[in-house]
Amino acid sequence: MISIYKTVVKKPKVLDNDNIQLKLLDIISEQSPGEKIKNLYNHSEVRIALNKLYNNKCAYCEQKIPEGYSERIDHFRPKNKIRKVDNHKGYWWLGYEWTNLLPTCEKCNIKKSNKFPLKNGENTRISDNLENEEFLQNKTFNFSNFKIDRLEKEERLLLKPEIDKVEEHLFFIPTGEIKYLTEKGEKSIEVYDLNRNSLILERRRIIDEVINDIIDIFSNYEQHTDLLKKLFKNKVEYTEEKDYSFFRFFIKYFFNSFVVLDLENLQFSDISKILINEYEKRITY
Ligand SMILES: [Zn+2]
Repeated sequence: MISIYKTVVKKPKVLDNDNIQLKLLDIISEQSPGEKIKNLYNHSEVRIALNKLYNNKCAYCEQKIPEGYSERIDHFRPKNKIRKVDNHKGYWWLGYEWTNLLPTCEKCNIKKSNKFPLKNGENTRISDNLENEEFLQNKTFNFSNFKIDRLEKEERLLLKPEIDKVEEHLFFIPTGEIKYLTEKGEKSIEVYDLNRNSLILERRRIIDEVINDIIDIFSNYEQHTDLLKKLFKNKVEYTEEKDYSFFRFFIKYFFNSFVVLDLENLQFSDISKILINEYEKRITY
């Protein structure tokens, strides 16, 4: 997960409030209104905007959505009944809300499902009495009240990349595992399942590739500086459009513990010495 500025991309026109007003009023008396939320949020205009914003990556685990697979659009606050919460129809009224839609891979989407835990249990949850909550006035949805600061009073426990500074909650270790610094971080790892085997292996694969490339570079060439620069640019730099960029950030800044130590363990201490040397010379990779 990395932090995202949602304002970078314009809200898709198809989610304009006038369209939404009618759609929501139409399902207001349904027993399960969330199940009637369809079409507009799934519109290609929305998908294109979300993919641009998230660089075709999952908002939670940062893996690239494989070609040929379609990302799933996750309702951050679930549109259907919330897991383990009785007498509440879910946040169906946010079903078409731009700030509530995130692109995810299939696995994260299935794992998160309808979970939305809060810090103080149910004490702070927005009720589904929308008139009392002032989201609905005179049979008209008051979208200006959907604003983030009102919603944030719930004290959610799940990290949202569009609001939270992810680095204050999560960090990585060289095995590829993700760890937490806060309760929000802990709950998010659990609910999004960010330590599932496939993700740990994929992150670790990046380090293994870097190490193998370094060994190759040093065994075949005397002039290694240019090749190292290329390697750093391709595999270690953590530009936003790369997959697992938050993990790559850790490889770059903790290069010693993430890569150099492994090289020493692999009996390449001559290489590791040169690497440390070059690193200290502040070569810009
Ligand atoms: Zn994912």
